[in-house]
Amino acid sequence: MSKTQYLLSVDIGTTSTRAIVFNEAADAVATHQVEYDQIYPHPGWHEQRLEDLIGTVYTCLDGVAATIVSKGIKLDQIPALGITNQRETTCVWSKSTGKPLYNAIAWPDTRNTVTVKQLAFKSDLGVDAVKDKTGLPLSTYFSGTKLRWLLDNVPEVKAAHDSGDLLFGTVETWVLWNLTGGINGGVHLTDVTNASRTMLMNLYTTQWDKDCLEFFGINATALPKIVSNAEVYGKIHRGAFAGLPIAGMIGDQQAALVGNKCIEIGSAKNTYGTGAFMLFNTGEEVVPSNYGLLTTVGFQAGPNAKPIYALEGSIAVAGSSLKWLRDQLELVKSAPEVDKLAASVKDTGGVYFVPAFSGLFAPYWDDTAAGTIVGMSAYTNKAHICRATIEATCFQTRAILEAMAKDSRKQLSVLRVDGGMTNSDIGMQLQADILGMEVERPVMRESTALGSAVCSAVALGLFGWDLSKPETLKNVNVAGKTVFTPQNNEADRAWRVRGWEKAVQRSRGWKD
Ligand code: ADP
Repeated sequence: MSKTQYLLSVDIGTTSTRAIVFNEAADAVATHQVEYDQIYPHPGWHEQRLEDLIGTVYTCLDGVAATIVSKGIKLDQIPALGITNQRETTCVWSKSTGKPLYNAIAWPDTRNTVTVKQLAFKSDLGVDAVKDKTGLPLSTYFSGTKLRWLLDNVPEVKAAHDSGDLLFGTVETWVLWNLTGGINGGVHLTDVTNASRTMLMNLYTTQWDKDCLEFFGINATALPKIVSNAEVYGKIHRGAFAGLPIAGMIGDQQAALVGNKCIEIGSAKNTYGTGAFMLFNTGEEVVPSNYGLLTTVGFQAGPNAKPIYALEGSIAVAGSSLKWLRDQLELVKSAPEVDKLAASVKDTGGVYFVPAFSGLFAPYWDDTAAGTIVGMSAYTNKAHICRATIEATCFQTRAILEAMAKDSRKQLSVLRVDGGMTNSDIGMQLQADILGMEVERPVMRESTALGSAVCSAVALGLFGWDLSKPETLKNVNVAGKTVFTPQNNEADRAWRVRGWEKAVQRSRGWKD
């Protein structure tokens, strides 16, 4: 009798790394999670140690191995590993020594504002300089502008670049290179979804674009090779899972698209983690955005599969705004306390909070916006601020959804959600109210980890799963879900949205 097989994923998120083992129904049978340090050297700067990014991966893999063995599952019942990661975070290291040349510059970091202005100035198209090819506007967010900042400001990085010793990668590339042996034969690869966030990849060819490299002044020798999301890249060289093939690699938001089973054209999900990211599957068609969205690769289910594209709306600050209330303002002790306080009042008492700590992302794309709280009076208390904090993510989600409807000319009828902030019942109810649309929340909300595990299964032909045949995944993550239905009317919605738009106007131009 053949043994039950399980799937393993490692998810290197913005604040923590976790390894999860899933069964065929997508129940998480074991999890190991470790937080790592966030470094904020100056306002707007946000770094992580490269050593932590790979160190926590080994800790989580070894930890989850111990857990499953204690549950009577043998390690050889796991045929492969899938990797998923925070995207855009930029890593640079030396090919010859394997040592980091700088801390990772995390995706919300905005130190490169001037770099972006200089690049935009170079082109007649301004911030749309490479948008036709990459689907992305010039912004502090993407890795290409972060790498340019490193080349301009860190002499060691420039010297390594010029001498051919520089290796660049986003987090999956750094982790894969190390897992497969580092300077002793590690493979230098990136997957097509992470590559699509660099501003260096041509969306149509899914290869590095010569003109983009020239525009950013980056040598191709520093770049990893672009591969699909489902194929065997190499084997883990040490630790509890030594010898295990790594067969799935996909950026976290695209992984959530797969994990939340939005694999059919026209389906969409929103993941509420540190930031919030909505992706809308546009099938084999590259849909350029006229309304402030990004065009990106959704997934490519193997080296010979066609890429599936998506429109994306990114919100820089979502769950992290609750952490800000907890850690910086010390207004609450935990995220659930924010929920409790938010639910204790019937509205925000006219308060709006625009948490534009990294400027505003989609659909506004405004680096000059700063965090702004408006509408306060002597009546305002911390419960109103908590509610306004949660509502901010909901309003931004609405703005993105409106842009998606215009770009795709399709109207969604239900929004599928996942991520840490969806633990908030009040948050999801407010989301349904502000959208005027049903919000559907699965029980298993680790869609990101699940998506990369699914990719590894697809690569090995396990369970008959096939991303071009949605029916093959019909039994995955179906147990119990909650549907939030709007409880207000259109007039109430319109009034609240108008207040939000006024608040956004107030936040703009502050950092000009
Ligand atoms: P990431 O993968 O980006 O690290 P997660 O999906 O783990 O993020 O989500 C973490 C975020 O979820 C945190 O920023 C936290 O504030 C938020 N969060 C966790 N629990 C709750 C809750 N009960 N209510 C609201 N937000 C929550």
